[in-house]
This record gives sequence, C-alpha cells and structure tokens, in this order.
Amino acid sequence: MRHHILVLGAGYAGASAAGYLARHLHPNDVRITVVNAEADFVERMRLHQVAAGRTPRRRGLAEMFAGTGIRLKIARVTDLDAEHRVVTVAGESGTEELEYDTLLYTLGSTIADHGVPGVGEHAFHVAERTAAERLRRRLDTLEPRGRVLVVGGNLTAIEAATEIAESHPRLRVALATTGEPAGWLGTKARDHLARAFDRFGIEVHEHTTITKVGEGEAIAANGKVFETDVTVWAAGFAVHPLAADSGLAVASDGRISVDRRMRSVSHPEIHAAGDSVHAIDDHGRPMPMSCASAGFTRMQATSAIIAELTGTKVAKVPLSYLGNCVSLGSRDALFQAVDDRARSKAWALRGWSATRFKAGVLQAVAWTMGHPTYGLPTRRRRTRRAVSADVGKVVAD
Ligand SMILES: Cc1cc2nc3c(=O)[nH]c(=O)nc-3n(C[C@H](O)[C@H](O)[C@H](O)COP(=O)(O)OP(=O)(O)OC[C@H]3O[C@@H](n4cnc5c(N)ncnc54)[C@H](O)[C@@H]3O)c2cc1C
Repeated sequence: MRHHILVLGAGYAGASAAGYLARHLHPNDVRITVVNAEADFVERMRLHQVAAGRTPRRRGLAEMFAGTGIRLKIARVTDLDAEHRVVTVAGESGTEELEYDTLLYTLGSTIADHGVPGVGEHAFHVAERTAAERLRRRLDTLEPRGRVLVVGGNLTAIEAATEIAESHPRLRVALATTGEPAGWLGTKARDHLARAFDRFGIEVHEHTTITKVGEGEAIAANGKVFETDVTVWAAGFAVHPLAADSGLAVASDGRISVDRRMRSVSHPEIHAAGDSVHAIDDHGRPMPMSCASAGFTRMQATSAIIAELTGTKVAKVPLSYLGNCVSLGSRDALFQAVDDRARSKAWALRGWSATRFKAGVLQAVAWTMGHPTYGLPTRRRRTRRAVSADVGKVVAD
C-alpha cells in the first residue's frame, strides 16, 4: 500500500508543497492528492488588482499538475476527523471521505471581521477571488464622485485603496484605520506613503475604528458616520475555523500550533504551512500571514515530511521575516526592510525601484507556482517502509 499524502489547499503553500513532494518522493511508494475549492490557482497577492479591473493570467491547477502524478480533487473541505484521519470534501459529484497517512493543511485565510456587525452583509473585500470580482463589478457601476471607504490600515488596505483610486480616478476614495496607516513603517517610507495618498486624493481618517457597517454607511466608534457607496473591509485576515473545530491544538488566533518542523503539536501526522500555521520564527515571534512566510513554512513542512518518510535528516529551513513590499497603484511601491526584531529599518526602497522589485517578486512567484515540480524529476527517494518491505521480500526469496 502506498503512503497517502493529502494536501488541503492549493494556494502558495499547498501547490508548491505538492509539487516538491512529487519531485522528491518515489511514486511507487507514495501517492499525493491535492484538494482545492477552486479549479484555478488564485494569485491572492493580485486580488486588489483584480478588484480594480486588472485581469491576471489564469492558471488551471489541472494544467499545473499535469504529468506529475499528483491527483487533484476540486472540492471544498467540510470536515477533518483528525482522530480517524479522514477528511470530508464536497464537490460536484457529492460528498466524499478521503483517508490519509500524512496530512498537509494549507487552507490559507479569509477576512477577519473582528465581530463587527454588518461586515458580512454589507462590506466588500479582496481576500478571495470571488469577493474581488464582486467588488470589481460593483465599482464599475458607480457614478463619478461615488464614495469608496476602505477599512484597515495595513498592507492590503493600502494596496486596495491606492489601486482603486488609480484605476477609478473619478471616485472619492477614503481610508479609515484604528491607528495610523502602516504605523510601523520607518519615517522615510511613511512620508512616501503620505505623498502617495495625497497624489491619489485618498482621504485618510486615522484613529478611526469602524464598529458597524450598514447599507450605504459605516459608523465609527467616535460616532462619525461615513456615507459610502462601497465599504471595502481590509482589516486583517483570519483563518477558517476548520482546524480548531477538528480538535487540533491551535493558537488564540485559530492558527495551527506546530513544532519547528511544522508538525501539529497535538497530531504529529498533520503538518501545516502558510497562513494556517502558527509558526514561531528564529527570533521567537509568530510569523505573519504572508506569501514569504508561506514559502518558508512550506519548505520546512515538506522537508520534514520527506525526512520522516525516508529516514533522512530534517533540513532546518531558516524562519525569518525580511520586510514588507507594498504596491501603491501600478507605478509606485515601497519595500520596508525590517531587522531581526521586526522593527523597521531607516532604509526603505521607494518609487520606481520598489515597483520593479515588487513586479519581480510577483513574476517570480507566479512562475514558480505555474511550475510546481520544475518539470520533474530529481532524485525521488524511496520511503523507509517500502525499502524494508523490499528487503523482506529478498530475504524470503
Ligand atoms: C489582496 C492581497 C494582497 C496581498 N499581498 C501580499 C504581498 O504583497 N506580500 C505578501 O507576502 N502577502 C500578501 N498577501 C497575503 C498572501 O496572499 C497570503 O499570505 C498567502 O496567500 C498565504 O498562502 P496560503 O497558501 O497559506 O493560502 P492561500 O494562498 O490563500 O491558499 C489557500 C488555498 O486553499 C483553498 N481553500 C480554502 N478553503 C478551502 C476549503 N474549505 N476547501 C478546499 N480548499 C480551500 C483556497 O481556494 C486556496 O487555493 C496578500 C493577500 C491579499 C488578499
């Protein structure tokens, strides 16, 4: 019986993990199944661009995994029975139960509504493809001088506000945030950001916490009422409740608690990576939800799985956070480097060089995701179990 590795989610962490495992484990010993809700790979890092009217290249997962031996299932994961190692999925052909020997959990995240009433009913967001497309359709229907309020002050809110303001110059775009927009930036980067907001005519409301979203309005804790045609909720990400509901040990934010190998501390046959994992970096801090973290945690999880199955040494992947790259429309950006205590350095890349840097990152990531196995093969290792079964057979012969 081949060892069954089930990968939940085919985003930045899951798709590349499946490809890496297929490239390094022998297909006679291991079978790999990937379950994903969408048939396409979704470049989440471009979803604010999708909302603003740009159309990134489509990448079908079936095409990405063709010839790799990876089995793809387009279905939604609805339940995880971690005690019996069974995952329930619902797809076009109905509900199905999938058993696994090793599970890699990479279901990503969605918006965090922070319990604010009305967000689910009245706000738009860019955390998922369908939501970004819905926002795009709505923006296209607005009259000149229509009002857009972006709620949030971190990377996604800034990227969404600037991209929408650039692509829809006749709309009035405002941003409301609890503190200052990206208050953690160094002085030079913050000044650059303020100039970009000015250039786009984005009205910034600092120290303004939105506590209710209604039809055509958003209400702040200080009593201020924003009349809006569109409220875009971009106040952070939260994980799906599935991991916590299944009895896995999770941190207070619902992310899966793991050891240094990205193994669940409660269920060692389950590994996690990407936004779903509560990984502690090499300086003792929880890693932020980001594409870079998805890359590092994915590499660590797959190295551990391969080592555990083949009996080799687990490679220690450095876990750190180098900085944040934020686009400010299509022709401006910022890259803020951080030190090993996550404090912004005085130095920041700004303007054209940061725009080129960000474009390069997006292109490189998109290429990597489009080629998850780099065309196979490399050395595909035998599992310990298969090797000892072969030895047993030879001895018996
Ligand atoms: C607009 C936007 C801009 C961003 N910009 C940046 C940036 O500039 N830099 C950066 O580092 N990060 C950025 N991020 C964050 C980055 O996209 C995430 O950190 C990254 O996507 C995490 O990767 P992941 O593989 O964990 O999750 P995802 O990429 O979200 O993949 C999860 C996968 O699981 C699937 N899935 C979810 N639930 C289910 C289910 N129940 N059943 C089956 N499948 C399911 C999803 O369809 C998806 O394919 C941005 C995010 C957004 C939304």
